[in-house]
Amino acid sequence: MKCRFCDMASSREAASRGVADRIILESPDFYAVSSIGGFIRGWVLICTKQHHLNLKSSYGRADFWAFAERVADLVRSEFGPTVMFEHGANAEGSSTACGSNHAHLHIVPFAGNLEALALQSEVNLSWMPSTANEIAVLANDSEYLFCANRFNRGETNGQLALIERPTSQFFRRVLADAVGLPNLFDYKVNRFEEFSADTAHRLTQVAQAVS
Ligand SMILES: [Zn+2]
Ligand SMILES: [Zn+2]
Repeated sequence: MKCRFCDMASSREAASRGVADRIILESPDFYAVSSIGGFIRGWVLICTKQHHLNLKSSYGRADFWAFAERVADLVRSEFGPTVMFEHGANAEGSSTACGSNHAHLHIVPFAGNLEALALQSEVNLSWMPSTANEIAVLANDSEYLFCANRFNRGETNGQLALIERPTSQFFRRVLADAVGLPNLFDYKVNRFEEFSADTAHRLTQVAQAVS
């Protein structure tokens, strides 16, 4: 099956990719790109190089968190405080993921309280507190949504909801409402390519400056 994230991981030829698909930073098993449809500047995705459906197994890995924190530090230094979220699919073709069932963590510059906004959403989900490490056990084989206001590696404390009905672009809707762009949440029609390009450009520069 064709997967845009696997394509990005395997194509070493940066010139063949659009600017938004250019890898900003990578480790042996993970890479970071700016998000298509990121209506907030500085919005990045941390992706596994291997094709996985979700990050359950990555959350137990020290190298994942080391890389995620490195990326989040870059984003924070350039764009301010960040939150993180994941929509963990459990099957190919699930509509819970944002058009791709390849594991990725969203890191978004946002000074508000994403956990509280998720809990208050009119989309009725059953949220429970969870650390990232606990997701594998709590979610078992269910699809899930996870968000956290702060990083603390595997001990990252956030809110977890198991998904019974497909829920499309949940966090994008919540964030779009919060920043006053309620009609622009849908990345399929609002791609914000200029923002993605700006994010990739600025983060690549700061990454080079600190390395
Ligand atoms: Zn993939
Ligand atoms: Zn996504």
